[in-house]
Amino acid sequence: MSNTRFGAIAESGKRTHRKVEETGKRSQLFGQQVFNEEKMLQFLTKEALEKVKSAIFQGTKIDRKIADQVAEGMKAWALSMGATHYTHWFQPLTGSTAEKHDAFFDILPDGRAMEKFGGAQLVQQEPDASSFPSGGIRNTFEARGYTAWDPTSPAFIYKTTLCIPTIFVAYTGEALDNKAPLLRALHAIDEAATSVAQYFDKNVRKVHATLGWEQEYFLIDKALAKSRLDLVMTGRTLVGNAAAKGQQLDDHYFGVIPSRALSFMSDLEKQCTKLGIPVKTRHNEVAPNQFELAPVFEEANLSVDHNLLLMDVMEEIADQHEFTVLFHEKPFAGVNGSGKHNNWSLATDTGVNLLSPGSTPMKNLQFLTFFVNTIKAVDTYEELLRSSIASASNDYRLGANEAPPAILSIFIGKQLSDVLDELEGVSQGKLSPQEKTELKLNVVGKIPEILLDNTDRNRTSPFAFTGNKFEMRGVGAKTNCAKPMTILNTIVAKQLTDFKKEVDVLIDKKNLKKDEAVFNVLREYIKTSKRIRFDGDGYGIEWQDEARKRKLSNNKNTPEALQVLTSKSSIALFKEMDVLSEVELKAHQEVELDAYILHVQIEGRVLSEMVYNHIIPAAVNYQNSLLTNVQGLKEIYGAVYNKVAESQLNILEQIGEHLAEIKKQTDEMTAARRRANGLSTINKKAQAYCNDVRPYFESIREQSDKLEKLVSDEVWPFTKYRELLFAK
Ligand code: ADP
Ligand code: MG
Repeated sequence: MSNTRFGAIAESGKRTHRKVEETGKRSQLFGQQVFNEEKMLQFLTKEALEKVKSAIFQGTKIDRKIADQVAEGMKAWALSMGATHYTHWFQPLTGSTAEKHDAFFDILPDGRAMEKFGGAQLVQQEPDASSFPSGGIRNTFEARGYTAWDPTSPAFIYKTTLCIPTIFVAYTGEALDNKAPLLRALHAIDEAATSVAQYFDKNVRKVHATLGWEQEYFLIDKALAKSRLDLVMTGRTLVGNAAAKGQQLDDHYFGVIPSRALSFMSDLEKQCTKLGIPVKTRHNEVAPNQFELAPVFEEANLSVDHNLLLMDVMEEIADQHEFTVLFHEKPFAGVNGSGKHNNWSLATDTGVNLLSPGSTPMKNLQFLTFFVNTIKAVDTYEELLRSSIASASNDYRLGANEAPPAILSIFIGKQLSDVLDELEGVSQGKLSPQEKTELKLNVVGKIPEILLDNTDRNRTSPFAFTGNKFEMRGVGAKTNCAKPMTILNTIVAKQLTDFKKEVDVLIDKKNLKKDEAVFNVLREYIKTSKRIRFDGDGYGIEWQDEARKRKLSNNKNTPEALQVLTSKSSIALFKEMDVLSEVELKAHQEVELDAYILHVQIEGRVLSEMVYNHIIPAAVNYQNSLLTNVQGLKEIYGAVYNKVAESQLNILEQIGEHLAEIKKQTDEMTAARRRANGLSTINKKAQAYCNDVRPYFESIREQSDKLEKLVSDEVWPFTKYRELLFAK
């Protein structure tokens, strides 16, 4: 094994950066591999183009005749681009994407060969996907699932395959994926937000949620990453003594991007641009070899697809550049983990960002309406929102010093806090003309159009208002953004629906003017959602105490966090908003719990293997060389040898102690795993893995790291932190 390590180090030392040619303006590359409007104009009939557009903007259905026309056009374009296969590209509940390629190539009854692709193949496919997790919705032996075309996300060509974004549902209609619920949530927020936006502008016909994610990741030399069993199998290092230098000098953050990484980024960006992913920002992150990439925001469904596609492309391009890209939320202990901030807002078809303060008091009242309703929604459903970012890997990151706590709170900055404080004092019922003028001039009118950055004071707030959007920061780097986006849009949709009802009652029954009614309802929301607002900088806060004081939920781990999905109120909420049925919620919860169990189980197994087959042998090996040395000293020095061999004997003893302890801990962990496996319900199992198995990972690691410090570098089997993190 130590040979593997030194071989890998030697290999990584020989790397040079690949020359990447810049091929001119990125804007000319943009969307080259996407079946976008430009291509549709060229390859579709006018009728088909109109129908696809109305499917995108109005959600109308596309009939079979039109589907055939679209398929014909798509095929012609794909073949002209050199594609040979097509696939329905979907998002099973495992979190990544799945595809099954079929060739366009077909044989006609008369034996001639040709390229075939029709409406039937475009609209619906039945992948033999019975081994994807379905939480019991789809018994492997009876019901089947099928994928169905999502025309709102354009088809694209990746390598030589035409990829058609699809949802994946059971024949009985239940969602087996992450996209179907997201589309339903986006529909719910559209309806709810449009009707509220119409208070302020009758011309609004549609509201879409916007998402701009910021993807953090590590780039590790491929040979070095491959030399670590744990990185290969689990995506994180299970053992490893901290390097003498970590991130404390802050010399990586926003520093000059190392040239190998820069070549990778250029290649990646070019590929992304061709695929229509509008990548824009790149920079070094805080930890060594950690980076971030962010696009221009897009409509949420498309943005989610683009993030998933990006992660696939990154793995591919990284490989070409002899890197392994890590999306795990906490690949290395002691340095920052990786997140994926989700920047979210609402935009109207009239081009207005509803979370952007405007130039007139009326526009600002609209802004305040959406702003306060979002706060209220997060306050009411904070536990649900927390559940949307729960995963075995993100558990290692949330609440660590650099990351947002698992307890939810909202940071809005002082300027807006002051505005909300003022609004709390608005009179009940009708407002006097003086009060109205005062409000317009000095409260609502005082919100500056551009809120100068009030966000820097609290970089770890889990949910922060950043000028014209909210930023959800607890999302893990690996997570499919569809999950948090489904829940966020659902809860805000529900909140806006309730708001509309309350305002209408005040207008109809209490004879209030529209703005009076809005002020009255917002005032109450501001009063009742105070506990969720946290405007400090977050440093030195005991979040556990804070949660207790504020009566906020405090779910420390994934099995706990997922419970709320099937609570009475969650079931009612998702049913009312038509996003997930009770059956689907239970199934999705089961899949998540199962994924949790599997991930922890795999980590446990890998750790046992590392201890028994690598760590113990390495330590024994070193003990042996010490023993040989001591024996030699004894031969020469006779009775006084133990004075001469004092250090060696002491190290031998220390190694012996850690060996005994690491073996004991590993055996206990294995026994705990066995007990967990024997439990009858998935819930109990997940809890046992969390509470009884996982704690051993830390204690085993502690022993291993002590051994790493004692044992000769020459025999240590695992590539060390300094080697992994500081190879450029
Ligand atoms: P940072 O948070 O690192 O300071 P920015 O605030 O500039 O970076 O932007 C981060 C992300 O927010 C980008 O992906 C950007 O496209 C996205 N973003 C900006 N405006 C919106 C919006 N209205 N809706 C959704 N995302 C947005
Ligand atoms: Mg950000």
